[in-house]
Amino acid sequence: MATIVDGVKRLQENGIKVIVIGAGVAGLQAALECWRKGCNVVVIEKDEKLSSIGDFFTIGPSGSTTVKDFPSMHSDYHKCVYDCSMDLYTPSGTEIFSMSPEWKEYSGKGVAPDVDISFLKRRSEYARMQVDQAERLHIPIHWADKFGVEVTTASGKKFDGDLYIGASGIGSTVPGFDFGSQVAVQDSGYAIARVAFPRTAVPEGSLASELVRAADSRPRFRTYIGNNIHLILYLTPNWLGFAFTHPDLNSAKESWGDLKDPSTLIHFLEEANASWDPAVLDFVRAAPSGVVDWKLRWRDGAEQWTSSNGRLVLMGDAAHAFFPTSGNDATQGIEDAVSLAECLSIGGKDGVVQATKVHNKLRFERVNILQLLGFVNREELHNADVEAIMADKTKAKIGYFTLGSWSWNHDPEAKCLAHLTDGKPFQYTNVPPGHAYQPWTLESENKRLKDGAKSDLKSNGYWGM
Ligand SMILES: Cc1cc2nc3c(=O)[nH]c(=O)nc-3n(C[C@H](O)[C@H](O)[C@H](O)COP(=O)(O)OP(=O)(O)OC[C@H]3O[C@@H](n4cnc5c(N)ncnc54)[C@H](O)[C@@H]3O)c2cc1C
Repeated sequence: MATIVDGVKRLQENGIKVIVIGAGVAGLQAALECWRKGCNVVVIEKDEKLSSIGDFFTIGPSGSTTVKDFPSMHSDYHKCVYDCSMDLYTPSGTEIFSMSPEWKEYSGKGVAPDVDISFLKRRSEYARMQVDQAERLHIPIHWADKFGVEVTTASGKKFDGDLYIGASGIGSTVPGFDFGSQVAVQDSGYAIARVAFPRTAVPEGSLASELVRAADSRPRFRTYIGNNIHLILYLTPNWLGFAFTHPDLNSAKESWGDLKDPSTLIHFLEEANASWDPAVLDFVRAAPSGVVDWKLRWRDGAEQWTSSNGRLVLMGDAAHAFFPTSGNDATQGIEDAVSLAECLSIGGKDGVVQATKVHNKLRFERVNILQLLGFVNREELHNADVEAIMADKTKAKIGYFTLGSWSWNHDPEAKCLAHLTDGKPFQYTNVPPGHAYQPWTLESENKRLKDGAKSDLKSNGYWGM
């Protein structure tokens, strides 16, 4: 019998015991979704508590389809939405173009009509919201513990389950997951400097304070395009931030991210362009020390996310690396969670092995196209011909300004297994209509860029609205 807890309708318990490794955005969502579908869930997280590191990320409509199913989380969600514009600027501070996220300009019925979806969410606020929801549902989260050998954590606790979900991020390997996605992590040659800070860090009367005032009328997700660089400013009434992808000069360093003073990073911007709007540089300098300079590491897309016995499945960044320019890393992690939970629900306790494999099959091609989108978007932003765009504004929808309705107007729960039960040969329906899938790797993309060849990704199938 279905029950209701904290307003969430939970399907009848199905006897499936799920152990989620990693309380990141994907792992937490997997816990919520599997619980909602009637599974018993435990989460194991290596950190002592939710990390406050991080700034902003994007979760599009396809990652927001089930927010409405968690009524109190739904209301928490709406307390931290920034209904921002997306602006494109020259480094010297001229506005080229401004729009709302594509899904806000879409005239059709969206897949998450009850949710106000922004291009801008604080990562820490989103994860806090998920943890609070898990606690209200009494889903145990074991902090400061680590998935050790198979079912025993490093502190000696034993967990046994029907299914283990490895949602432990891109940098991790999970014992027992020695297949598919556990392919080598590589340096991409780029790093990303990023930070969020309170508006009070920018002194009144400074050059930067002029920029900050732009958020008084509406929050802004503002991209400045330079030469082999792009700089994003996050401007909201209470939180500010920036992020810029730059060549990684120290590819030998072992650490994933160094905390830096912004003044030590500003040379990347100055080298890429000599005529920055002084207010922009003042804004970057105003950030408190502690800008995270993340290495952008990469794992080539692997087709297999499950162990051969189907009882282990990777999810989120552990299954598929993304560059931030894809605008899709968190969204795809959440889609994974929704899709897997629905497959488990349809398959039941005796169908766990089939459910994970079907889920993997359903997801791979869609995710792999969006992984490639991160490369193509970065290339478009870093090599933009500003003069040509200024002369013809129809060319302004470069990079993540075009994601295509196929990517965000997709409901991962709605038709999960339908086309597997109709007896027809399997065909992806969650990719751009008319797209002919082409496998690729970091090496093949780097070679293409070196050869100066243009990607045909956004002309392969329909990417419009
Ligand atoms: C602290 C933090 C801050 C971030 N900030 C941003 C940001 O500002 N902008 C942005 O675009 N993206 C950010 N990201 C990345 C973004 O959250 C992910 O790309 C995306 O949401 C997919 O999430 P995920 O759950 O797959 O991975 P992640 O969010 O990386 O979560 C993985 C989780 O697994 C835990 N873990 C790792 N190994 C083990 C183990 N052996 N046992 C148990 N637990 C383990 C990690 O501590 C982490 O909590 C951040 C990630 C983290 C962890």
